[in-house]
Amino acid sequence: MIEKNISLKPYNTFGLDAEAKLLARVSDVIDLQAVLADSKLINEERFVLGGGSNILLTKDVDALVIKNEISGIQLVEETDDSYIVRSGAGVVWHQLVMHCIENGYAGIENLSLIPGNVGAAPMQNIGAYGVELKDVFHSLEAVEITTGNVQTFSASDCEFGYRESVFKRKLKGQFIISSVSLLLTKEAKLNTSYGAIEEELERLKIQSPSTKDVSQAVINIRQSKLPDPKVLGNSGSFFKNPVVPTSKFEELRSMFPNIPGYPAGESTKLAAGWLIEQCGWKGKVVGNAGSHAKQALVLVNYGNATGVEIFNLSEQIMCSVYDTFGVQLEREVNVY
Ligand code: FAD
Ligand code: NAP
Repeated sequence: MIEKNISLKPYNTFGLDAEAKLLARVSDVIDLQAVLADSKLINEERFVLGGGSNILLTKDVDALVIKNEISGIQLVEETDDSYIVRSGAGVVWHQLVMHCIENGYAGIENLSLIPGNVGAAPMQNIGAYGVELKDVFHSLEAVEITTGNVQTFSASDCEFGYRESVFKRKLKGQFIISSVSLLLTKEAKLNTSYGAIEEELERLKIQSPSTKDVSQAVINIRQSKLPDPKVLGNSGSFFKNPVVPTSKFEELRSMFPNIPGYPAGESTKLAAGWLIEQCGWKGKVVGNAGSHAKQALVLVNYGNATGVEIFNLSEQIMCSVYDTFGVQLEREVNVY
């Protein structure tokens, strides 16, 4: 069934009140192919929606919104030391993480509590606490919008990068991801050196952590630092951490000795949150929008902000970071 003039407010974590001209919920690939082939809808622009946790809606969506609700998690292969687990694109990402932890499939515990659905995870190669989707990725299936054909993509086909993939670049708007398969291990190779994980494990008095313990530590840290979108609308980190030539980092460090920098291949990754905070934005409220008091990188809707207000705030932040540091921030959130 195609719904008309639907408010997208419950479907985006910024809580922005944009309206979709048309909305179709699809629960399997056949359903999706039927919607794509429907002659009455053929001239409509298409807009794919997952959990709405990485979008900024600056206007009504004059398009057919395809809400991906393809469910199901299956173990498709088991070897002596690994598992391949396939998940429908409409599964909530954190539910997949919990399912894996409960069944002893290791490798995604650091990605606990990232909002959104499985189908969007490859879009920006989601990452947190030193682990990215690409580290556990096996393959995905996606439906081509123009033909309805199903194609399989390997990791190299996806061209994953830092919060990047081929689906945000060369193939933008061309495919709808229908399932994602992960390669997980039987033996856990825990990564606890990132951020405050070790500190949190110590606080919990855990000396030999399991995947479940690491997941719980990540959940605790995230809940203590990040605004809950149900309470305060947001889309997580609004900007990517900029990666600059190391010579630029050294130049900046001579002027700002405390500037954090992390090796990223030959280059250096800066912490966008630190740059924004130094420019005085942390906790600042402008109209109905602002930068969060605990993490400057997260822009928030304090109640009745419009997408344009949040977009304009992001412009101001980008200008002041550029003026102060000569560094161009790039938005991570998908702006419509
Ligand atoms: P949506 O917002 O619905 O869509 C995002 C983009 O993907 C859109 O362009 C959409 O058209 C496209 N898309 C969605 N589904 C599909 C599909 N099936 N096929 C093709 N295109 C599709 N991200 C991180 O990487 N790491 C984090 O630690 C993290 N923490 C966050 C914390 C908070 C509090 C919030 C609100 C967000 C955070 N995010 C993080 C961002 C966000 O959760 C992820 O980017 C997530 O993968 C988005 O999923 P979604 O289903 O909500 O995507
Ligand atoms: P944090 O621990 O305060 O660290 C600040 C920044 O420094 C992070 O962005 C992180 O980069 C970088 N960093 C910290 N330790 C690092 C290390 N050992 N090696 C390389 N880089 C390091 O960050 P936070 O805000 O609390 O977030 C914690 C994790 O959750 C981060 O990985 C972050 O990306 C992720 N997160 C993402 C979003 C999102 O929407 N994308 C939202 C919330 C949290 P990276 O971001 O590259 O990891």
